[in-house]
Amino acid sequence: MPENKLRGIVFPKSKKTSGMTIIPMEVPDMVYIPMKQAPGEVYLPIASPGDRVKLGQLIAEAGSPRCAPIHSSVSGEIVSIDTLAANRDADELYIKIRTDGRQDLHESVVPPRIRSSYEFFEVVRSSGLLNFGRDRTPLSTVLENAADAKVDTLIVNGTESEPFLSAGGMNMLSFPGFMKDGALAIMEHLGLNRGIFAVGSDKKPAMEALKKELAGENRLELYSVRDYYPNGFDTVLIKEVTGKLLPPGKKPADLGILILDCGSVIKLGQLLDTGLPLVSRSITVDGDAIARPMNVEVPIGTHVTDLIAFCGGEKAPIRKIIIGGPITGRTIENSNYSVGKDDSALLCFSELYAKDTAESSCIRCSRCAAVCPMDLMPMRIMDAVRRSDGRAFSKLSAFSCIGCSACSYACPARIRLSERIMKAVAYFKNAGKAEGSAYPSLSSNSARVASVGTADANGAPSARRKGKGGRNAG
Ligand code: SF4
Ligand code: SF4
Repeated sequence: MPENKLRGIVFPKSKKTSGMTIIPMEVPDMVYIPMKQAPGEVYLPIASPGDRVKLGQLIAEAGSPRCAPIHSSVSGEIVSIDTLAANRDADELYIKIRTDGRQDLHESVVPPRIRSSYEFFEVVRSSGLLNFGRDRTPLSTVLENAADAKVDTLIVNGTESEPFLSAGGMNMLSFPGFMKDGALAIMEHLGLNRGIFAVGSDKKPAMEALKKELAGENRLELYSVRDYYPNGFDTVLIKEVTGKLLPPGKKPADLGILILDCGSVIKLGQLLDTGLPLVSRSITVDGDAIARPMNVEVPIGTHVTDLIAFCGGEKAPIRKIIIGGPITGRTIENSNYSVGKDDSALLCFSELYAKDTAESSCIRCSRCAAVCPMDLMPMRIMDAVRRSDGRAFSKLSAFSCIGCSACSYACPARIRLSERIMKAVAYFKNAGKAEGSAYPSLSSNSARVASVGTADANGAPSARRKGKGGRNAG
C-alpha cells in the first residue's frame, strides 16, 4: 500500500441528491418484509396471517447469531407469510402486511433503561440493528466480538464515497446528536478509550454539524478523510485514519480497532433515545430513469415499485436496477423486490446506461494499477491467474487485494479484474490450506498448478476451479 499517496477514483460531482434532506416516505398500502438478509440466515416468524401488528412489534426471531430479529415497519394486518418471486434467495419468506395507515406504536417501544453492559447488549440484540455497509452482521454480534477481541478504538465510517450515494452524509448532518450518543454508549460498554468519526471531506455540512456537536467532548475526534473511492474499505480507512497497515488475512480487531457504519451508530443513538427498533432505512433513490431523485426514509418491506412511484415514477423506461452503490451494489433482474435492512440505495437506469459492455483485450494502459489503493498491478496479477501461476500470484502480493473493484471500474477494456482476482485469492488460499499453510507454498506450486487446468481468455478460472468470490467481488 502506498505511503500517503492517493490511489483510487475521484468522482467529480457524482451525487445529485447531495444536500437533499431525507424525506419520510408515505406508508404504502402493502409491505413485504423479507425474512432473510444474507445467505445462511434462519428466521422464525412468530406472527401468523390474520394477526394485527403494530409499528415496532417483533414478528420474527433470529434463529442464529448471524441474524437479527425482525420487527414490523407498519401497523396493519398480516396477509400472508410466503415467498415472493424476487431477487433474493428463491426460498426466502416475506411477511406481507396490509397497512392501516395509522402507524400505531407497539407497547414494547419505550426508551430503554440500561443499568449495566449486559442490559446494553440485550437492548442492541433485540433491536434488530445491523452493522450496515459491506458488513451486514447483526450489530450485537459485532459488538460482542469486539468485546472479546479487546479493541480499544472505535472508528465510525462516514465516507460514503461511491457515486450517487448521499443518504449517509445527510443522516450525519441531520442527526449528529444521535451519532455522538450511539458512539459514546458503545465506547462506555466496550471500555474503549478512543472514538473517531471518519467523515469524507466532501461532506462539509455534516462535518460542521458534528464539529458543533462534539464541542467540549474530548473522547471523540473528527477526522476528514480524503474523498476518493474506496476510502471506506477497512484496510484503506485504517491506513488513512491511523497510519497503520492491516496485513492480508487480518481483521481490524487484530489492530485493536472496531469499525462501524455511521448509519448503524445513528440508529443506535435513536434506539437509546426512543426504543424504536430497526424498522426503516435511509435510502438514496437516483439514476437517469427516476423522475425525482431524492433521499428517502423507507419502511422496511416497501416494494420497489412503490418507492419509485414516491420518487415521481419513471422519467424513462427502466432497464437496469441496482440495489446499493454502482460499484459494490447488485443488479436485480426485475422490480419484484422489497427494501431490506441491508439496502442503502436504489439506482434505476434507462437504456442509455443499462448496456453491459462486452470485455475486450487488455491494452496495457496501466489504469488499473494507477487506481489500486493497495498499490497492486492488477493486469500482471491477471496474467498470473490466466497461467494458474500461484507463485507469481503470491509474489505480486495479490493476497492483499481487498476486492474494491476500483480496477474493474477504471479499465477501458471492461475486464472484470476485481471479481476474478478475488476468486483466484479464494482458490489459491484454499489450495494453500490443503497444503497446511496460509498461502500456497512456492515449492509445490508447479505441481499443483499443473493439476488445476486452464483459465479462459480473460483469465477467469475454469468452472471446476472456481472459488468463492469475495464479499465485494464484482
Ligand atoms: S486497465 Fe484494463 S486495459 Fe488497462 S492495463 Fe489494466 S487490465 Fe489492461
Ligand atoms: S480490487 Fe484489488 S486489485 Fe483491484 S483495485 Fe481493488 S485492491 Fe487493487
